[in-house]
Formats: sequence, C-alpha cells, structure tokens
Amino acid sequence: ASEQYRNFPMVPRVVYGKGSFDQLGDILMPKRRHSEAPMIFLVDDVFENKPLLERIPTIFCDQIILISSNEEPKTEQVDALVKKILADFGDLPSGIIGIGGGTLLDLAKAVALLLTNKGSASDYQGWDLVNTPAVYHVGVPTISGTGAEVSRTTVLMGPDKKLGINSDYTTFDQVVLDPDLTEGVPKDQWFYTGMDCFIHCIESLNGTFLNAFSKSYGEKSLDLCKEVFLGTNSATDSREKLMMASWHGGMSIAYSQVGVAHAMSYGLGYVLGVKHGIGNCLVFQYLEEFYPEGVSMFKKMLQKHAIELPVGICANLSDAEMNTMITVAMGMAPLWENALGENWKTIVTPKKLASIYKKI
Ligand code: NAD
Ligand code: ZN
Repeated sequence: ASEQYRNFPMVPRVVYGKGSFDQLGDILMPKRRHSEAPMIFLVDDVFENKPLLERIPTIFCDQIILISSNEEPKTEQVDALVKKILADFGDLPSGIIGIGGGTLLDLAKAVALLLTNKGSASDYQGWDLVNTPAVYHVGVPTISGTGAEVSRTTVLMGPDKKLGINSDYTTFDQVVLDPDLTEGVPKDQWFYTGMDCFIHCIESLNGTFLNAFSKSYGEKSLDLCKEVFLGTNSATDSREKLMMASWHGGMSIAYSQVGVAHAMSYGLGYVLGVKHGIGNCLVFQYLEEFYPEGVSMFKKMLQKHAIELPVGICANLSDAEMNTMITVAMGMAPLWENALGENWKTIVTPKKLASIYKKI
C-alpha cells in the first residue's frame, strides 16, 4: 500500500500589515449572524486601560473579556468561559476573537471548540478527538514566536496532563497579523517567546520527520530569527520579521514535530508551572549533545541581548516531583521520535533526563 499522508488544514484567511488591526470591524461584519449573536473578544489583561481596547470594534451586545496570561491556559478555565458565554446569551456567539500571545490565542481556539462540542475541554486533549466544527474564531497575536496563530493545536493544562487539542477544527478561520501590536512587549518576554520560534526551527530542521514542505518553512523562519536576534534591524523591521518568522516556524512544525527542548519543557511546565517560552530556553541551553549548532547560536543570542536566565529552578525538587517531570517529558513520544528516531528509548533514559533537569 502507498503511504498515507496527513491532510492538514491551513488558516484560510490572513491579513498582514502595520495598522491592519483597524480592518477587524469590516472583517467581522459579514460573520455576524444577527444582533443577539455577539462577537466575544478574549483579550490579554495587559491591555487594560491601553489604547488598543478602544480600537476593538464592538457593536450590539459584543463582549470584551479581559484575561490574565500569568498562567498558561487550563481546561477548567476554558470550561468556565464556555459556561459563562452560554449563560450570558440566548444563542451561540457569532465569533470568538483572541487578542494576545500564545495564551490568549490558545484560549480563543479552545473556547470556540467547546462552544459546539459537549463536555469538558479535557475530553478533547489528544489527537483528532473533536467531531464538530468550532464557532468562527479569529487570532490576533500581540507578541511573536509561538506559531499558535497558524497551528492546529491549543495547548492546555488539564487535570492530569498538559496536552494540546489537536484537530482540524482548532485552526483559526482568520488571523490578523499587525506587527505594530507587538510594540511594548518587555525585552525578556520578547526574547523568550522569540526563542520558542527559534527552537521550533532547530527542532524541526534537525528532526527525523523533516520533509521538503517543513524544511522550506523552517529554513525561512530560521533565517529571519538570525536576522532578528543576531543582526541589526530597526525596531519596525525587527517586529515585522519576527511576526513572519513565527508564522513560518509554526508552518514548519505543522508537517513535522518539535523535539527534545519541548518535551522537557512540558515537564517543567507541568510540575513547576514554568511558562513555555522561558521553559524551552532553560532546557535548550543544556542540549548541546542533541543540537550543537543551535545551542551555540542560542548562546550568542543570549549574550547579544544580555539575557540572564534564572538558575536553581530544579534545585529543590523532591524525588517524586523529579519523577513526575521525567514521566511527563518521556510521555511525549512523537517529539522524541522526531528528535531521535524510532529507537529513542535507547538514548533517552530517566537517568539522562534527571541529569539535565538537575542543571536547570
Ligand atoms: P503569553 O501569551 O503568556 O504572553 C507572554 C507575556 O507577554 C504576558 O505577560 C503578556 O501579557 C505579555 N504580552 C503579550 N503581548 C504584549 C504586548 N503587545 N505588550 C506587552 N505585553 C504583552 O506568552 P507566549 O509565549 O506568546 O505564549 C505561551 C503560550 O503559548 C503557552 O501557553 C504555550 O503552551 C502556548 N503555545 C501554543 C502553541 C500552539 O501551537 N498552540 C505553540 C507554542 C506555544
Ligand atoms: Zn513551542
């Protein structure tokens, strides 16, 4: 039999450009079903009292819900939002618009899915468990790097695992890429989330799942990351390039997979609540063995931008916590298989992972 190739959805509509956010009202208009079916804007609360809030095109009974991204999205948070939206309105909303970083983009995707799919978000963590299309949903990134704006997953912390809802219905119906929205991101956060993109490229390009499709996006994204983090750019150029690097990085992993840093970062996130971007950086600095060139480039980037990663994160872990961290990391089989091939278990042992975690 011939090989079965995966048939992936892509974001069907995207608007790109400085100031393009102001077109959002026109973009949403034809998607409004009637005046009682609102658009719900889930917005990072970092924008509270900021001019961006005034620019959100609310009409009729539209709602803006401000949400903190201090913690990464949780399945119970998604369930609570869905319950609130269904209780507040007699009808399904016309759309869900996520405005913020990976946290808000993932929340918007998950809420849109759970408005039309019964039960809890935790029922759908995994691969292709969603059967009903989501409510119309739009992603508006305000920080670049995760690729959540293009991916077919929404990563959620559930009662017993941190795992994405990976499905054909997860992908946004519309994305608005306005590089001006990323103005004002604090420098450390810019670096950590930007490195998420850089690490996506390194893990994709050095993985066993690599193919010409992924490579074409991964190489472009990596070039842009190098320009942004090792070159000289105006602030505007840098924002524009990183926004497109994030997009291409996300496209690259769509048809391949991430690798060692992500698997181990999931463990850090699950046990200690370490966030995705910084968690990837904390792990990646000790992965010379797996990604020698990537790690040496990463260290140059750290130096150039005078970023000091925190130390002693795993210093006071109990044995039980260390074991959980290792179990979570080793549970990410597709990531390890991409990184090291089918026989990954002969290379990656609990002892080896403990030795890396202990350095962090
Ligand atoms: P984030 O969304 O948590 O935002 C990071 C910080 O930047 C927050 O404090 C936020 O308030 C602030 N911020 C965002 N935009 C800002 C702006 N314009 N000005 C000032 N501050 C701003 O972080 P992130 O790194 O973008 O996303 C991490 C999340 O993305 C994690 O939950 C991770 O699991 C998820 N993720 C998802 C995918 C996917 O494909 N779905 C891929 C990678 C990561
Ligand atoms: Zn990532």
